[in-house]
Amino acid sequence: MQKKIQLRLKPEHASDPQSIKQSLSDSIGCPIDYIKGFHLLKRSLDARGKSVLFNLSLLAYINEPIQPLERQKILFRDVQNASKKTIIVGAGPAGLFAALKLIEAGIKPIIIERGKDVRKRRRDLAMLNKTGIINEESNYCFGEGGAGTYSDGKLYTRSNKRGDIQRILNLFIQFGAPEDISIDAHPHIGTNKLPGIITAMREQILGSGGEVHFEEKLIDFIVENRSIKGVKTHTGSSFFADDVILATGHSASDVFELLHQNNILIESKPFALGVRIEHPQSLIDSIQYHCRFDKARDIHLPPASYSLVEQVDGKGVFSFCMCPGGIIAPASTRKNELVVNGWSPSKRNNPYANSGMVVSIEQKDAFAYVNDPKFSIDHPLLLMEFQKQIEEKAFVAGGGLFQAPALRMTDFCKKTISSSLPDNSYLPGLNPADLNAVLPTFVYERLSSGFKAFGKKMKGYYTEDAIVVATESRTSSPVKIPRDPSTLNHPQFENLYPCGEGAGFAGGIVSAAMDGERIADAIIQKRL
Ligand SMILES: Cc1cc2nc3c(=O)[nH]c(=O)nc-3n(C[C@H](O)[C@H](O)[C@H](O)COP(=O)(O)OP(=O)(O)OC[C@H]3O[C@@H](n4cnc5c(N)ncnc54)[C@H](O)[C@@H]3O)c2cc1C
Repeated sequence: MQKKIQLRLKPEHASDPQSIKQSLSDSIGCPIDYIKGFHLLKRSLDARGKSVLFNLSLLAYINEPIQPLERQKILFRDVQNASKKTIIVGAGPAGLFAALKLIEAGIKPIIIERGKDVRKRRRDLAMLNKTGIINEESNYCFGEGGAGTYSDGKLYTRSNKRGDIQRILNLFIQFGAPEDISIDAHPHIGTNKLPGIITAMREQILGSGGEVHFEEKLIDFIVENRSIKGVKTHTGSSFFADDVILATGHSASDVFELLHQNNILIESKPFALGVRIEHPQSLIDSIQYHCRFDKARDIHLPPASYSLVEQVDGKGVFSFCMCPGGIIAPASTRKNELVVNGWSPSKRNNPYANSGMVVSIEQKDAFAYVNDPKFSIDHPLLLMEFQKQIEEKAFVAGGGLFQAPALRMTDFCKKTISSSLPDNSYLPGLNPADLNAVLPTFVYERLSSGFKAFGKKMKGYYTEDAIVVATESRTSSPVKIPRDPSTLNHPQFENLYPCGEGAGFAGGIVSAAMDGERIADAIIQKRL
């Protein structure tokens, strides 16, 4: 007999198969010998009470031998000589998952990517961290795998109505991700493992007869009779296909400018902006797991995380993309703009915990700040201009070479320049600086109030040992590229498909991958 059982176990028992068997036999009320085996289906951590417990959902085999769990394997077709072709601009999660889905159905994808492959890209990241010199085409946002490649690889999303999350996780597993990602409530892959998975996806695309062109940047569309025939790239090459998927991410400001200059409809889009916060991981562990700061957490527990939100003067201040055991990284794409973000290795074993802490920005906020007659309140690039101005200020305040301006959290709230900063993870270096001169006043004041309120919710969070680093400004796209709600193409072109985070239809790796699949489905329905 097979039976689904829910258990709540202490951490040391939840990771021990013999203890799990014992608990299953207690729960079912049968001798332990009757439990022939089990599969772990779901695992989540409950740290709300005094003692931390794991919730496990298990499939137990009672008096019958355990069977392996079947995982659906996706099969890919040979598309080398396919009659239908689609150009995909951008090899981020949206572009890659669109390509795989098209291949499954028999359409040939031609991927055009401005950045380098994952291996070469890693060298550019090392150079940026060591020397402060950026490659504007190959960095934390641009290159194979997109913005998520050198990230924490968190794979959870709230947009479960928009697609099949389990299918996306299964595909990640098919290309080499650990099976645990389909078990954990908050799965993550880690920066060290993602490049191998992305490489395996590319090898599948090429092996199936698709094309992948690195270091080819879209600079123009080839248009005939209100139809996009192809794209031109900066090397002078032209590519032609039946359809074009535009999956260029939230940082491709030149693509937004290209669309605007060509009178292709785009809209400004509210996004969130603020700072990245870093605490010692041991402090976050002690707060969340109710243990002592100077003692290591229980070895059976993962590094603790948090998710915080507070309303300040009618606007939300909220944590974003928390990276336990992580590193703060320079996620800029241009020479004179400073953007920070965070990543973690799969073990999340760095001594620091970082998280974005951001405030929503709307058109009226950006309009009041930008103060330039070129930008009316309904200008499609208003929020992008706002973002750019703040990133440029942060770059100058940091002192150049991607050093970042920072303050201790307590000094941030007192508006004093810190005389020193604690040890931290940010490799290019931090310099104490006046963040009030970098951030708009309404952002600064809300963050200040937010930090103090979070200190009440999480005792110890508001501390001089925490650092506030500017600026977290690429939380989502400041521009939306609209599409027809039923056919999903751009309203002006029946074969141009805006896709993923850059178009404003995703926020994160999984939702971008799901949007890629959704667009591929629309093309498949139309063409096959
Ligand atoms: C450091 C960091 C950490 C992150 N951590 C996480 C996380 O843990 N979990 C999570 O869910 N999300 C995370 N994100 C966000 C996530 O990466 C994005 O939401 C996701 O990658 C968006 O996917 P996308 O395919 O829409 O766009 P992108 O991933 O941005 O991909 C767009 C691609 O288009 C290419 N491109 C741009 N312009 C052109 C052009 N003109 N010609 C050709 N190619 C072009 C770019 O080089 C890029 O490869 C993180 C982001 C960063 C930067």
